[in-house]
Amino acid sequence: MRGGTVRDGAPPVEEPPWRPVPLAAAPPVRGRITADVAIVGAGLTGLATAHHLLRRDPGLDVVLLDAAGPAAGASGRGTGLVGPRIGPAIDRARKRFGDETARACYLASEDWVRQTVELAEELGADCGLTTDGQLIVATTGPAEERLAAQAEAYRQLGLAVEPVDRPGRFRAALRHPVAATLDPAALTTALAADLARRGLRRFDHSPVRTLGGGELDCPDGTVRARHTVIAVNGFTRSLRLPVGTVAPLQLHAVATAPLTAADRALIGPEAVIDATTLAPYYRLTPDGRLVMGGGPVRIPPTTDPAAHRRGWDWLARRLPVPAAVTHRWTGQVGMTGDDLPVVGRIDEHTWYAGGCCGHGLALATATGRHLAEALTGEAPPPLPWHRERAPWLPVTGPAAPLLRGYLRFLAHQAGRTR
Ligand SMILES: Cc1cc2nc3c(=O)[nH]c(=O)nc-3n(C[C@H](O)[C@H](O)[C@H](O)COP(=O)(O)OP(=O)(O)OC[C@H]3O[C@@H](n4cnc5c(N)ncnc54)[C@H](O)[C@@H]3O)c2cc1C
Repeated sequence: MRGGTVRDGAPPVEEPPWRPVPLAAAPPVRGRITADVAIVGAGLTGLATAHHLLRRDPGLDVVLLDAAGPAAGASGRGTGLVGPRIGPAIDRARKRFGDETARACYLASEDWVRQTVELAEELGADCGLTTDGQLIVATTGPAEERLAAQAEAYRQLGLAVEPVDRPGRFRAALRHPVAATLDPAALTTALAADLARRGLRRFDHSPVRTLGGGELDCPDGTVRARHTVIAVNGFTRSLRLPVGTVAPLQLHAVATAPLTAADRALIGPEAVIDATTLAPYYRLTPDGRLVMGGGPVRIPPTTDPAAHRRGWDWLARRLPVPAAVTHRWTGQVGMTGDDLPVVGRIDEHTWYAGGCCGHGLALATATGRHLAEALTGEAPPPLPWHRERAPWLPVTGPAAPLLRGYLRFLAHQAGRTR
């Protein structure tokens, strides 16, 4: 294996290399606005909720507000791996929820990937969609043991996730056949453009400051609706939502210049996720760039200029090819203490969906459908993350150093290559 090296060149662009669809400007909320449903957050979760609501009832008056605009949050800044799995690894999920629920969760997660691919195709979104599967790989002895336990659990549950026969540069690998990759900003903005054509009223630059009794308060006006969906993911703190702890977490990502065809062949078509928490995950774009996420994480407002370099160094040590970093960026996700999101009802008028733990592209599409069904009177089958609160985590207060120390410990573990 050739060690990866970063070639020196021009400084990286501090944004992702994504290609959002240009959108017509939307006004901010001014005066008193009323609607049937108000959605806060124009990421994939909020947009997918609007999409499914209007599909179920095109006559509904739905308004969508965002502090900035569509794809301003994680949905425009992800690395674009659309994969199955949710919550704890499958062997631990069996112990926690029992075989039937663990299996149902996995099958549901595969279904979300299919729904996301269908959505991209239906929109005709120019988002570089690929559907080549996903590898979860072990590069250390302990990770190899964990993958073996997961492989056995998938086998016993009759799920089509199998060890790769000759894992090449990895110690071991599991292949998830139902997985995709795409440009998340292109998909998110394509959905926003489609919804504008379907009559969705969108308000940009409208940060909601408080909510209560069915009324949303923005700097220059208010919105009153029969139902409200809060889809702000990790931005819950300023709204004081009673959803337990959805901790904001700053993730880092980089993209390289297009690789040569020979180097692309060495990486392979599948997206790759290292089995160790916080270790790198990466994939090729259709134009041959390598896009990577992972590395040390931070709890905002703390930032760490060295985090990109460290995350990249870890990957470079594991990569069989050299490459030059051309883009690097950060984004905020919502993390919960048990790795499961929160999709639930806060009060009579209000639903919340978020806490995707950095794994939300496929989940967002499914969550939108779930919320639309719930709001239009259908009772979807309960799954473990259909709940009102996440467990408490010490993001602030005297115990906060414990959480930060734990994240540093995870980063240290993830940085080890054997
Ligand atoms: C660097 C990075 C890499 C990632 N890689 C992947 C990946 O490869 N695969 C994957 O599945 N997931 C990945 N994710 C996670 C994924 O992007 C998210 O889980 C998903 O996009 C969440 O969508 P969302 O709509 O719930 O939240 P967001 O897209 O974060 O949308 C929330 C929106 O709420 C708005 N908002 C916040 N507060 C307010 C307020 N008070 N008033 C009005 N609006 C408000 C924000 O402006 C934002 O637009 C990654 C995330 C990051 C940051």
